[in-house]
Amino acid sequence: MTTATTEQAATPSRDPVFDELGFPTDPDNLYTQTCATMLGAAELLNLKHRVRIILAQPKNEIMVHFPVRMDDGHHQLFKGYRIQHNNILGPYKGGFRYHEDVHLDDVKSLAMLMTMKCALTRLPLGGGKGGVKVNPRTLSEGELQRVTRRYCSAIADQIGPEVDIPAPDVGTNAQIMAWFADTYMMSNPHAHQSGLAVVTGKPLEFGGSAGREKATGQGVADVLKEMLPGIGIGIEGMTVSLLGFGNVNSWGGRILQDMGAKIIAVMDHTGGLRNDHGIDMHALAEHAARTGGVKGFGADNGSQSGRLITHGGDAISEEDFYRTPVDVFIPGALEQMIKAQQAGWLDCKVMAEAANAPCDPSGDRALSSKGVEIIPAILANAGGVTVSYFEWLQNKTSQSWDAQKVDEELNRHMCVAARRTLAARARYGCDLRTAAFAAALEHIGAVYNLRGIFP
Ligand code: NAD
Repeated sequence: MTTATTEQAATPSRDPVFDELGFPTDPDNLYTQTCATMLGAAELLNLKHRVRIILAQPKNEIMVHFPVRMDDGHHQLFKGYRIQHNNILGPYKGGFRYHEDVHLDDVKSLAMLMTMKCALTRLPLGGGKGGVKVNPRTLSEGELQRVTRRYCSAIADQIGPEVDIPAPDVGTNAQIMAWFADTYMMSNPHAHQSGLAVVTGKPLEFGGSAGREKATGQGVADVLKEMLPGIGIGIEGMTVSLLGFGNVNSWGGRILQDMGAKIIAVMDHTGGLRNDHGIDMHALAEHAARTGGVKGFGADNGSQSGRLITHGGDAISEEDFYRTPVDVFIPGALEQMIKAQQAGWLDCKVMAEAANAPCDPSGDRALSSKGVEIIPAILANAGGVTVSYFEWLQNKTSQSWDAQKVDEELNRHMCVAARRTLAARARYGCDLRTAAFAAALEHIGAVYNLRGIFP
């Protein structure tokens, strides 16, 4: 039997809701991929049809075009999106990204994942996501600020601390959140100070929360610590590979190393590294911050002084990176990077999805058929939105939590979400991804039952 035939045989049948809503048939479309997972879980718990069709499409799809004066004096038109998927549990919540490949369906998919993530962690928030089609590395600081301010003012009427609360994502950062908050606050003089809570992921000095920068990586580590013993893997001495070494994985890598794990392979957009003795995450994070990537952190960077050992790694190809045998593989780069070929190369027991939707459907099926335990993104990377929620709470109550309180509360939320997912797996006899969606949908379905459908 050929691989293609195996994959076809394993392809789930098309959910009738797709035909009812006129969805195109495109196996590579990220939105239909996410929606199929949601509908598969909905079927397991017999979710009401009306809730399925509501969740199968976002409530609002906002698309904006805005001009920005560039440094050379000419004006360039930019395209931006804000997708508001669902707000049954609370204001829409989710990041916005600056990337040249931002597409409507990808943003819709990420917004749906936010709805599921907030419901799984029982945060009183809905799901949203945004983006501007631009490569931020091509902009000067002044241009980046003007793009941010114009994007904010283009969607300002449709967001707000009680309506929709954006946050950072790929290509955006705390400084961008500060410009975004300032623009919103200056445009709403009657709600000037309360406008601070319009966005999270702000700098600490300007309404940000302790622990937000490392939150997603910390959450990945918290979930692994909670779940790995049940899979027969101890954190101490376990081997790990990291795909992507940006905000999420550079923090996750450092935290896991400090917990006793050995990170033996790393790959980002600049190249791959391997060292079976372990690559020093703290030194690599400094190197990546200085040089823009992991490339060049060679094995000769290794040094030992007293008990302190730092290790670089040998440069490796993409294929060698994926083929490195590890206990845990953590994708923390972009969506759909792991296709059937990469999945075929992977040699790991567990994949913890730090990135959203890191596999395409063929990659997902290939990993499942190899028996890899997949800890899904809506659980594994929920630490970011959880600490964003803490920031929003602090802004609304004029409080400032210390790092210890943030860490403790984050750990509590992540552990409960992990146990809820395991309980759903036992209840429905399914894989962890379907179980996490099912646990989220149980909550959303219960609230729809209580509230009914207006009017
Ligand atoms: P980031 O921009 O800081 O890092 C992205 C990383 O991906 C970089 O290391 C980059 O080199 C790498 N990358 C890009 N293209 C690559 C390629 N072709 N091959 C290998 N590596 C490549 O982004 P981030 O904030 O760390 O987010 C990473 C993922 O985690 C995204 O999917 C994001 O949506 C998700 N996520 C982020 C947060 C958060 O709080 N930042 C929260 C939840 C989910």
